Amino acid sequence: MLLGKGYRVVGIVRRSSTTPYERIAHLVDKVDLVSADLLDQHSLVDAIRDAAPREIYNLAAQSFVQTSWTQPVLTGEFTALGVTRMLEAMRKAAPEARFYQASSSEMFGKVQETPQNELTSFYPRSPYGVAKVYGHWITVNYRESFGLYAVSGILFNHESERRGLEFVTRKVTDGVARIHLGISRELRLGNLDARRDWGFAGDYVDAMWRMLQQDTPEDYVVGTGRTWSVRQLCEIAFRAVGLNYQDYVVQDARFLRPAEVDLLVADASKAKERLGWAPQVTFEQLIARMVEADVTRHRRAAA
Ligand code: GDP
Repeated sequence: MLLGKGYRVVGIVRRSSTTPYERIAHLVDKVDLVSADLLDQHSLVDAIRDAAPREIYNLAAQSFVQTSWTQPVLTGEFTALGVTRMLEAMRKAAPEARFYQASSSEMFGKVQETPQNELTSFYPRSPYGVAKVYGHWITVNYRESFGLYAVSGILFNHESERRGLEFVTRKVTDGVARIHLGISRELRLGNLDARRDWGFAGDYVDAMWRMLQQDTPEDYVVGTGRTWSVRQLCEIAFRAVGLNYQDYVVQDARFLRPAEVDLLVADASKAKERLGWAPQVTFEQLIARMVEADVTRHRRAAA
């Protein structure tokens, strides 16, 4: 989206002995990739000084909720303290830049009211959610302490065909494609009754950008305002290839979580009013497009 607007885009990557650029393969020759790490303060200061950005989007995190119970300290390093390191780097090397922090509806966790808006209190239910609450408040604090243009976007789940395979939407659409093509016979899932407000990631990056174009930095909730269960997700995804999910979905305790977020649904009226933002892609369209992409990918791999 930024390239489409004529931006020069610089991305930070962690050094690795392999090159895991699968999801940006179509972009690697259009963006500048520089080596830096959220765990290394100096590398962030250098990266920001060299790039001299006008806008900084901190989308980096250990972002998978389930893993946050097996790697809680690492999750805190990246997802919580990593935000402070980014803000410090900006304060030192580009204090006039505008900073976007990717906050999360997981901060609402055991929801204190429904739907959730910018004033709803947080009650995170995983080490990931706890770390994101820290990231949110340190962003607010740096704005108030140092006058930085720093905003926290509280985004509800946003998905696309580039979502990681461990997240439930993609796990389901990939599973549907495998079953449809005869590669798998079943799909093992955890809690089918959890409800989320799922939107299309392409709509949500537009909201992020809009947050950085305002006169004053403020925080916003972004979501569709509709909620669906994992079971409904399965129904819609299997139906897209003419199958009944009940014939293939198996519940497996391995995918249950020590503490669950039962229900999330956004009240995004502030984003609608102030940013003029509205989602364009419906849930059914989103799932159809993800199923189609996974079917195409598996067909190609088989060929
Ligand atoms: P999250 O909202 O960031 O945790 O996104 P996920 O896509 O990982 O999970 C969304 C919801 O789906 C959670 O309430 C999970 O408990 C539920 N869920 C049910 N089965 C599965 C599964 O097999 N994998 C994942 N990732 N989530 C599952």
